[in-house]
Order: sequence, then C-alpha cells, then structure tokens
Amino acid sequence: ELSGPAWKRAEGFDWGEPAARRRLLGEVEAAGGLAQAHPLVAGRAASLKEEAVFAPADPTRRVGTVSWAGEKQVEEALRIGSERAREWERVPVEERAKALETLGDRLWHHRARLLFLLREEAGKTLPDGWTELQEAIDFCRYYAVEARRLFGGLRPLPGPSGERNQIGWRGRGLFACISPWNFPLSIFLGQIVAALAAGNAVVAKPAEQTPLVAAEVLRLALGAGIPPEVLHLLPGAGAVGEALVRDPRLSGVAFTGSGAVASRIAQLLASRGGALAPLIAETGGVNVMVVDATAAAEQAVDDILVSAFRSSGQRCSSLRLLLVQEEAAPRLLDLLAGAIEELVVGDPRDLSTDVGPVIERGAQLELEKEAWRLARAGKLLAKASLASTASPGGYYFCPQLVEIPSPALVDREIFGPILPVVRFRIEELEAILDSIARRGFGLTMGLETRLSERIRMVRERARVGNLYVNRPMIGAAVEFQPFGGEGLSGTGPKSGGPRYLEAFGVERVSSENV
Ligand code: GLU
Repeated sequence: ELSGPAWKRAEGFDWGEPAARRRLLGEVEAAGGLAQAHPLVAGRAASLKEEAVFAPADPTRRVGTVSWAGEKQVEEALRIGSERAREWERVPVEERAKALETLGDRLWHHRARLLFLLREEAGKTLPDGWTELQEAIDFCRYYAVEARRLFGGLRPLPGPSGERNQIGWRGRGLFACISPWNFPLSIFLGQIVAALAAGNAVVAKPAEQTPLVAAEVLRLALGAGIPPEVLHLLPGAGAVGEALVRDPRLSGVAFTGSGAVASRIAQLLASRGGALAPLIAETGGVNVMVVDATAAAEQAVDDILVSAFRSSGQRCSSLRLLLVQEEAAPRLLDLLAGAIEELVVGDPRDLSTDVGPVIERGAQLELEKEAWRLARAGKLLAKASLASTASPGGYYFCPQLVEIPSPALVDREIFGPILPVVRFRIEELEAILDSIARRGFGLTMGLETRLSERIRMVRERARVGNLYVNRPMIGAAVEFQPFGGEGLSGTGPKSGGPRYLEAFGVERVSSENV
C-alpha cells in the first residue's frame, strides 16, 4: 500500500509571480461583498436576530452578519440528525465519496470567495488562506479515497475451515464537529468530511469568531449532494457545544481547540448517561525547536520565521520555545533579529504583508501581557514594527524575540507571534528534552542539525506527534504528514492519516458457519 496517492492534491500558487499575484488579488476583491451566516437545520435557515461581524484587521470593517443558534435549532438538529443518520450510512460508499470529491472541486471553483472570507473574517493573508484552501480540498479528496478503502465492504479474516469471518467498518450515528477559528475552513471541514465519509450525520458548530466562512462552506457542501438532513450548521458560543455534547443522541465528538474545553467535553460525555461516545480531540502544545551548532544558520532562520510567525503564530503547531546551542547563538540570534525587524506587519489586504492581525482584542491583550512578563524576566532582542497599512484599531501584535533564562518560564501555550529563546549547553540537551516531555504536551517539535546521531537521539526522546527536522514545523500536508499530538495535546488518531476515519466508525465482525 505504499504506492503514490490515488488522488490529486490541490494546486499551489506561485507567489513569486507578481502578475499572477495581482490577478488573484483582483479575483478576491471581485468576490467580496457582505456575507451571512445563520443556523441551517435540514437545509432551512432560521431567521433570528442578526449581529454584525467585523474584520480583525480593522474592526470598523463589516464583513457580514450572523444569527446564533438557539435551543430550538439545537434540538431540531439533534433530532433530525440522529433520525436520518442511518439513511446516509446506507448510501453506497462510492456515492458518499463522490459527493466529497465534488465538494473538493467546488471549493476550488469558489476559491476567490473563500480567500476573501478567510482574509476578512479570520485576518489571513492570501498565502495563508491559500494553504488552508489546499488542505481543505485535500481532506475532501483523501478522505474520499480512505472511505472507499475502509468502508467499502467486508474484508475476510482468517478462521478454521467451515467458518467465514469478516470485518467491516460502519458509521456510528450522529457526530458533533466543534472547530476552532484558526482554521475556519480546513479544520472545520476536515472534521465534517471525515464524519460524513464514515457514514455519520453531522451537527457542526464552528468557532464563534468565524461563522461566515463556515456558512459559506456549508452551502457548498449541500450543493455537492450531501443531503441537508445529515449536515446541520449551528453557529454559536460554547453553550451550543455544551447542549450538543450533553445529549445522549450524539454518538461521537470531533473537537479541535483548547485542552480545557476538551476535558470539559470528556466530562460531559461521561456524565450524560446512555452509551459512551468517543471524543477525538486535538488541542494545543508548547512546541519546541532545537537548533544545534552544526545547523545551517540561514536555513534555520527561515524555518524559525515560518514556524513562529506564519499565521501570526496562531497555529497549534507553531513554535513556542526556541532552544539554541550557545556556540551558535550569537550569529543565529543576530540573523534572526534582523529578519524579524524586516517582517511586514499590516493589513492582509496588502500583498506585501507577512503577518496579519491576531483574531480578537482579547488575544491581543493577552499577548501584550505575556510579552511584558517575558521581557521582564529576560531581554527583548527584536521586534517587528507596524506597517502604515495597519489600521490603528486593528488587533495587531508585532512579532517579538525575547531571550529568557530558563525554559521553565514557558509552561503553557502562548497563542501568537511571541518567540522566547533560551541558550543551552550541549551536555544539557537530553535533560532539557526530558523535562519538556514531562510537562505532558506532545504536538510538534523542530530540530535543526547536520548530525544524524542527534536526529536519532531527539527522535528517541521527544514525545511529540510530529517531529520536523531541518524544515518548518508547521504546515503538515494531508497524507504525507498525518497530524496530531499525544498527552495534553490530543487523543489522536491523526487527521490526514490512515487511521483517522476508523475513529469515526464502529467495527463489525460477522462469523458465519458455512
Ligand atoms: N495542521 C496545521 C499545521 O500543521 C496546524 C493545525 C492547528 O493549528 O490546529 O500547521
């Protein structure tokens, strides 16, 4: 099963081509215009009170309106979803897979509109939005292939003569998909598509901050042939997620977000009575990159910039703590500081912007507090500055590099573009890695080195889901790098990997005396 992919990856974009960039920008602007989100249950939009949604880049810029789901919509989605799940499960897997592939094609077709919404509602630059679009399309295509492989029928098992044993996977019923604002397209859709591929009905609750992208994607999904009775959208705050998770009609939950909310969901699932339902959770990390004295400095600086500051550091895979071997530190930190000072922090509508805003005012304030705490304990080495495109009211936070005396000062996830750095002596490295592993986070780790012996040592000691060597530690590609952590970082199985769909299904065995 190691042959090349049986599916076509979404196309990349050549950002080095100024004419192509300008053309894309023109298409994105032309696809603009106010957006709308409302609860969508069995294809019917509930008309409720509307609230305005504003751009994080400039909170006076209106992106559209949202109406939030109330108890009535939650109840209807649970009722219809749980009643109609069986029907979807009986749809031949080939038909389900085809609908997902059609959805992938529709995302591509409507990419300008999606890039516009990712930029306006989530503050993403076009290159950032593009990679998210690619991942969303790849999820559709890859899970379609995986559904055929896993859910395509019974497979023979061994047994004594006269006995025919077979095993197969089926859908569980109704899944709640609860997703974060940092990937309002690809994580939102990846969970949904996996659950649908496995033959489940879905109630999707997008993050409060990003209902508009979600509503757009949902309309595209319904237009791709996914029956409205098996895919419902409930824009809302945490209370909507709670109401869903408390309900015994729910057969499983896919969740990406904070560890605290994942624990809360697990508690609610355990205490609601009825059957136990699985929780597939992907949470945060305190992700470390180690740069030793043999590393190629320019390469390391490029990888650090991408890992720490791409998407304004708002990925759960982002670099949170840089460890540099002391011999390498003077040159490397000098290069890095220079590169950080050149980053363009500004409005994502401007093509020269490297780093856009963070998601909301609360996040901006939290980052300011953390930056202050770290700088007081250590020393600010570099800070990017705000470009003139940045609106004064926008939720900007300029990337910073802060040297701190001890890794112990970074004991939880700081979700944004702050990079603390610690110098280490090589004989301390193993002990530092062990103490980091003992904190229990296990999402990503980066390593820059030319020593294969060191790669082997780090691979042995690190307890992380994704280790990246001599490359950025973000941007896992579907199927190439199945993504997800362990311990405090998540339950697994990894999204975009060969075991993901299994978690959305049940195994059934049939043993026949023949
Ligand atoms: N899969 C993304 C990456 O590899 C991160 C997902 C997340 O932030 O939740 O960068």
